[in-house]
Amino acid sequence: ILRRAESFFGHKEIVTRRPDKSLHRYTYADFARRARRLAVALQQLGLRRGDRVATLCWNQYEHLEAYFGVPLGGGVLHTINPRLHPSELAYIVNDAEDRALIIDQTLLPVLEKFRADVKIKDVIVIEHGTKAAGDMIGYEDLLARVDASAFVDLEIDESEAASMCYTSGTTGRPKGVVYSHRALVLHTLGQAAAGPIGIQESDVILPVVPMFHVNAWGLPFTCTMVGATQVFPGPHLDPASLLDAFAREHVTLTAGVPTIWLGLLRTLDEQPKAYDLSSLRALVVGGSAAPKSMIRGFDERHGLRVVHAWGMTETTPLGTVSHLMSDLERADPETRFTFRAKQGYAVPFVEIRARTEDGRTVDWDGKTMGELEVRGPWVASSYYKAPESADRWTKDGWFRTGDIVTIDTRGYVDIQDRSKDLIKSGGEWISSVALENALMAHPAVAEAAVIAIPDEKWQERPLAVIVLKPGQAATAEELRASLEAGFAKWWLPDDFEFVTEIPKTGVGKFRKTALRERFPARKAGTPAS
Ligand code: AMP
Repeated sequence: ILRRAESFFGHKEIVTRRPDKSLHRYTYADFARRARRLAVALQQLGLRRGDRVATLCWNQYEHLEAYFGVPLGGGVLHTINPRLHPSELAYIVNDAEDRALIIDQTLLPVLEKFRADVKIKDVIVIEHGTKAAGDMIGYEDLLARVDASAFVDLEIDESEAASMCYTSGTTGRPKGVVYSHRALVLHTLGQAAAGPIGIQESDVILPVVPMFHVNAWGLPFTCTMVGATQVFPGPHLDPASLLDAFAREHVTLTAGVPTIWLGLLRTLDEQPKAYDLSSLRALVVGGSAAPKSMIRGFDERHGLRVVHAWGMTETTPLGTVSHLMSDLERADPETRFTFRAKQGYAVPFVEIRARTEDGRTVDWDGKTMGELEVRGPWVASSYYKAPESADRWTKDGWFRTGDIVTIDTRGYVDIQDRSKDLIKSGGEWISSVALENALMAHPAVAEAAVIAIPDEKWQERPLAVIVLKPGQAATAEELRASLEAGFAKWWLPDDFEFVTEIPKTGVGKFRKTALRERFPARKAGTPAS
């Protein structure tokens, strides 16, 4: 991938917003040269084949250099999410046995919180103005002092590890997933062939999804393979900075979790004409379910196309994309939005099926729920050093995703819930995702999360936790009434809690475990506090 980028796209640009908001620009030729220097520098620091090199970085050009430089030097890139708790950070650094760490200077306070609990040999700091302290190495100094002629193109077997990432699971310890060179290359080809995500040389891509969240969903590799211009937002992920970058750099495709796009949609609704977004052909959304109302809002109010995709850390991550097949593209708007709000059908080389608790394969009828299982060349076959989790794979090699889905007659997957978030009421399942999406369609609602609360009679009942839009009002009765047309009566939440914020995970998903702790069992009809 790197040699191709260098041969044909050496003149193309990579743009990064620095912490001080200025823009750094250089070319693929500069990037490739520096990635090789990094490979040599790491080897000269003693990196051996298979050693893990961690990163604590934003989406920035030095991170891209590490994406390529670490595997080029024979190492394994371990991207770390700086938003994790220090105890989790220490755990994953020790579990991966990271030998070196490349860290952006703005994230040094994160390292300070767990450095005493880990053994990292070399800490390499991407400096911004000031020099890093004593025992740390400046990234630029390191590259400058290297003898680049010492670079040797290693013969690497396709099954060797290139990178690794830990799941952001909300229960138990994070689990490591290791990506081979083969998985990454095939994923890159699969992504390039994945309908609306397919990226061309002419594209300008801004990944909002962090480079520590499953390789920014593979975009840095795909962009480099095809020579697309890459724009990195650095630490600035607020709607104004993103919209400014989209307009200024003529971004054509961007990707991120729904919470990012919900915030952006609010800003666009407030200032519909402030930014020229005519270049933007797709906003890819994944990581949690994208509400239909949001997809529709971007489309109808701003002429912007949201493309819904599904994946997991364990699937490198791309699994399905909601690409409208040509006949559906000609259907009425309601049908089109309904299909676009689903997670879509599998990308090339990924196979899907769903099975019930008793092991029956679910019919593709769009109604019967089952656990989604996947297999394919970039689906992990085990967790790193976690043999106790072997039961996540079936005997015939399918990965059990833990996502409860329906699959329709056309093969479009519709996620109903994580299995642990499903609400079991009177022996039947209620989809929290469906309720959340309907609630977020209400004009006064900014965010909605629905959780199960234990119930003596029904086993569990839904509780809706609501964040209202600034200056808007809605009562529990009004919100419940707004759901009546779309759902059976027993699905409707008995209780509504109004809060100022829904706690989020390090990658921007609703942290439902925290909500369940905050709102334990209580009787229906108790006045909301
Ligand atoms: P992670 O490994 O952190 O990316 O989390 C993967 C999980 O995120 C999946 O198993 C799903 O539960 C959820 N997820 C990812 N994409 C979507 C989506 N488009 N809709 C609903 N849930 C999603």
